[in-house]
Amino acid sequence: MAYSFACADTGADCPGAFATEGKDELMAHVQMHAQAAHPELAGNPELASVVGGLVKQI
Ligand SMILES: [Zn+2]
Repeated sequence: MAYSFACADTGADCPGAFATEGKDELMAHVQMHAQAAHPELAGNPELASVVGGLVKQI
């Protein structure tokens, strides 16, 4: 089982997409990407719950 997340699913105009074996790993990747590409989201305490709700199991 792997996990995937695509920035576009949040409505963001961003090609960022991630797939990892573990959910914690995925969240770490998304957090790093958010800090680099979406600083306004990185500071949002709801980021984790928003991302968590859009993660897909693949
Ligand atoms: Zn993005």
